[in-house]
Amino acid sequence: MPDVIVIGAGLAGLACARALTDAGIACAVWEGSDDIGGRVRTDVVDGFRCDRGFQVLNPAYPAVKRHVDVRALGLGRFDRGVAVRTDDGLHAIAIDPRHPAELFHAARATGIGLGSVVPLARWFAPTLRPPRSWLGQPDRSLGEGLADSGVMAPARDRLLVPFLSGVVLGDPLAASEQFVRLVVRSMALAAPGVPAQGMTALPHQLAAGLAEAVELNRVVRGVARDGEGWRVQADDASEVAKAVVIATDARAAGELAGTPVPAMHGCVTDWFACPAAPSPTRLVCIDSRAGAVLANTAVMSNVAPSYAPAGGHLVQATCVWRDGEAPPSVADVQHAAGDVYQADPSAWRHLVRHEIRDALPAQPPPLEPRRDVALGDGRFVCGDHRDTASIQGALVSGRRTAAAVAAHLGRPLPG
Ligand SMILES: Cc1cc2nc3c(=O)[nH]c(=O)nc-3n(C[C@H](O)[C@H](O)[C@H](O)COP(=O)(O)OP(=O)(O)OC[C@H]3O[C@@H](n4cnc5c(N)ncnc54)[C@H](O)[C@@H]3O)c2cc1C
Repeated sequence: MPDVIVIGAGLAGLACARALTDAGIACAVWEGSDDIGGRVRTDVVDGFRCDRGFQVLNPAYPAVKRHVDVRALGLGRFDRGVAVRTDDGLHAIAIDPRHPAELFHAARATGIGLGSVVPLARWFAPTLRPPRSWLGQPDRSLGEGLADSGVMAPARDRLLVPFLSGVVLGDPLAASEQFVRLVVRSMALAAPGVPAQGMTALPHQLAAGLAEAVELNRVVRGVARDGEGWRVQADDASEVAKAVVIATDARAAGELAGTPVPAMHGCVTDWFACPAAPSPTRLVCIDSRAGAVLANTAVMSNVAPSYAPAGGHLVQATCVWRDGEAPPSVADVQHAAGDVYQADPSAWRHLVRHEIRDALPAQPPPLEPRRDVALGDGRFVCGDHRDTASIQGALVSGRRTAAAVAAHLGRPLPG
C-alpha cells in the first residue's frame, strides 16, 4: 500500500508528490491525461512550440525562486512592460520600478494624459512593498481600489483594463485588488519568460525523480473510505492508501470531494507560423482601442527563438472567452493580430487553436490565499483553487498540502 496517492499531475500535484517523495514518503501519482503538467503543457506543431494557452513563468514568484531551477529552463525573457496599440501605432512602455519616469512616456504615448500619472503611481506604490504588509488588510475589487487612488478613464479603460484582462482572463475591475497586486508585483520585480523547450519544461523539471510514481491515462472516478485508508477507484485500477490528495482542477475536485467550484475564466489562443517576424518587439502587446478582439499577442520567437524552427517565426494571439459567447473566428484573430503589429498577416499559417474553458479560477475579493487543504481523516485537496490562480498558487498549494499530509502520517517534513 502506498502511503499516499496523489490524483492529478498538474503543478500542484507534482509539487506535493515531490515534497513527499523527497521526505521518503511513498507516493503514487495518478494522472487522467496522457502527460503530466495539467494546464501547463506544450504542443509541438510542425516544429513550433505552442503552449496550451499563452502563459509565462514569473521568476519573481517566491515559490518559483524556492523550488524551480529557472536557469536550467533556459528562459527566453520578455522585455519588462507592454506594447500598446493605439490609433496611431504600437507604443512600448516599460513597467519597471527602476524607471518611474516611464509613466510620463506611457501617458503621452497612449494618450491617457499626464494627469493620470500621479493617480497611477499612487495605486502602484503599495504593490512594491512586501505583500505581508498589505495582504492582511481588508480586500476590495480592483475597480474600487483604482477609484480610491483617483485612477479613472482613460488610464483605467485604455491601459489597465486591456492589459489586465489578459492576466485574469475576465473583468479585472471585478477581481481582487490584492490578487492583481501580487501579479503586477511579480511582473515589476522580474521579466517573465518562457522555457526554451516550452512551458511543459516546468512540470517536467518538477517531476524529475518521480517517473516511477506517475501513472498516466488513469482517470479517477471515486475516492471512498476503506478501513483505515482511502480507496482510489480508476477505470482500470483500484488501490488503498493511507492518505489521498485530490490535486485536480477545481471542477474535478468538486466531483471527487464535494469542494466548492469557483467561477472559471476561459481563453482562446491561436498560434501562427509567419514567414517574417511582424515586429521586432519582445513585449507582450495589447490593443487599447475600443472593440479590440485580442487580450494580447506576442511574437514568441523574438522572445525564445527555440519556439520556432530555423528560419520560422511564431506569433500567439489570445482572446478572453466570455461565458455564453462564441470565440472569434481564426480569420478575425489573424486580422486583429496583424493589425496590432501593423503588418500584413495574409501569409501567416494557422498552426493550432487552444480553447480553454476552465483556464483560471476567478479571484473576486476578498482574496483567500490559504484555504484549508485537509478535508479530514487523511483526505486532502490542493490546487490553484485553494491558493491563488497562478503557477505560484499551484506550487504553494502543493507544498503546503505535502506538509499537512506528512504531519497527518506522523512524519513531519523537515524545515
Ligand atoms: C491559458 C492559461 C494561461 C495561464 N497563464 C498563467 C501565467 O501567465 N502565469 C501564471 O502564474 N499562471 C498562469 N496560468 C495558471 C496556471 O497555469 C495554473 O494556475 C496552474 O497550472 C494550475 O495547476 P494545478 O496543478 O492547480 O491544476 P491543473 O494544472 O489543472 O492540474 C490538475 C491535473 O489533474 C488532472 N485530473 C483532473 N481530473 C482528474 C481525474 N479525475 N483523475 C486523474 N487526474 C485528473 C488533470 O488532467 C491535470 O493534469 C494560466 C493558465 C492557463 C490555462
